[in-house]
Amino acid sequence: MLNKNIAIVGCGVAGISASIELQKRKIAHTIFEAKRFIGGRFYSFYDPKLDFEIENGQHLFSSAYINFFEILKFLGTFKYLKTSKNLSVPFISPSGKTARLEALTFPNQFGFFLGLLKFPFLSFKSKITLLKLIKKVNAESFSTTNSISVKNFLLSNQQNEEVIKVFWQPIGVSIFNNDLENIPSALFFETFKKAFLGENTSFVFSTLGSSSLLAPFTEVINNSPDYRINLNKKIISIFKEGEKFLVHTNDGEKYEFDDVILCIPPQHLPNILPANWLGNNYFRFLRVLKHNPIVSIYAIFEKELFKDDFAFLLDSPFHWIFNKTLIHNYKKDVFLYSFTTSNG
Ligand SMILES: Cc1cc2nc3c(=O)[nH]c(=O)nc-3n(C[C@H](O)[C@H](O)[C@H](O)COP(=O)(O)OP(=O)(O)OC[C@H]3O[C@@H](n4cnc5c(N)ncnc54)[C@H](O)[C@@H]3O)c2cc1C
Repeated sequence: MLNKNIAIVGCGVAGISASIELQKRKIAHTIFEAKRFIGGRFYSFYDPKLDFEIENGQHLFSSAYINFFEILKFLGTFKYLKTSKNLSVPFISPSGKTARLEALTFPNQFGFFLGLLKFPFLSFKSKITLLKLIKKVNAESFSTTNSISVKNFLLSNQQNEEVIKVFWQPIGVSIFNNDLENIPSALFFETFKKAFLGENTSFVFSTLGSSSLLAPFTEVINNSPDYRINLNKKIISIFKEGEKFLVHTNDGEKYEFDDVILCIPPQHLPNILPANWLGNNYFRFLRVLKHNPIVSIYAIFEKELFKDDFAFLLDSPFHWIFNKTLIHNYKKDVFLYSFTTSNG
């Protein structure tokens, strides 16, 4: 063990990831989690009345989530993920018309181009401008800057309102949980290329609830004297005294650490950091970040609505509908769906 003791604040996916990295480096640490359970927004619970496992957060992963998959491999639960065979997104229009945008099984982007040509919710003109831009974005020489929003970048690259609404907006909402006006373009296209244009890109689902995927983490921590987790202990303030960090919890306890890793959503940081830190360059980003909730509503139907794992809803306050019965392979005579609205 290295002669260092570190605090991790928050035990969502970020806190768990930080802990695993410290474990790999043999660094002692203590995790503080305000709730009585781990996972943060990535959690699920069994509802005895409905007799279904209900998911709070995660519904869909991309094959680009390489670091997240490393966490699950470490915990031994990677095997519970299932990967869709190809990159195929069913779209449902307000009139109920359904069509899929899919990458056909041809190498590289060629399959995606062919799939796009068959997609009925875009005019031929929109498809051509879209294909031109994707070709440009996919070139090795492509670069853009984070000082331009995705919306402005698209408008200056001949993308019309139709292609923005039907193609780019769903991608912005699903990856960044935000409107295209607020997403920096360099970051957007870097992620877009990894998630949609890379080799063997696909969508990934969990056949288990999120909490079951993370469950072995508590056991790993409890089996080592060098790692600790304090549930139901909220950090209320952090100070620096000399070389040490002093951490105060809501039950009046004080702890001393060599370093602190903050793994809580940015909007909570001003509540616990010293006021004079918030003005410095490092934390300046907090002033510009906005918080956009994602909400899922569950509904049970007597009939099966569609036979895909999920679909994108065009022109709807709900963006996604997830077919939980299919994803979790439930064998019942009713069907569970979750309607998710991003960028709330
Ligand atoms: C309805 C919904 C659907 C979603 N769907 C998807 C999806 O399909 N795909 C996808 O990739 N992402 C999805 N997400 C987003 C994803 O769940 C989150 O991005 C991810 O779980 C965030 O993890 P985190 O560790 O950064 O933060 P959190 O999960 O928020 O974890 C932070 C933890 O810190 C704790 N904490 C906060 N303050 C303190 C304090 N002062 N002291 C101690 N502990 C504290 C909190 O209790 C929490 O447990 C969805 C989210 C929601 C809500």
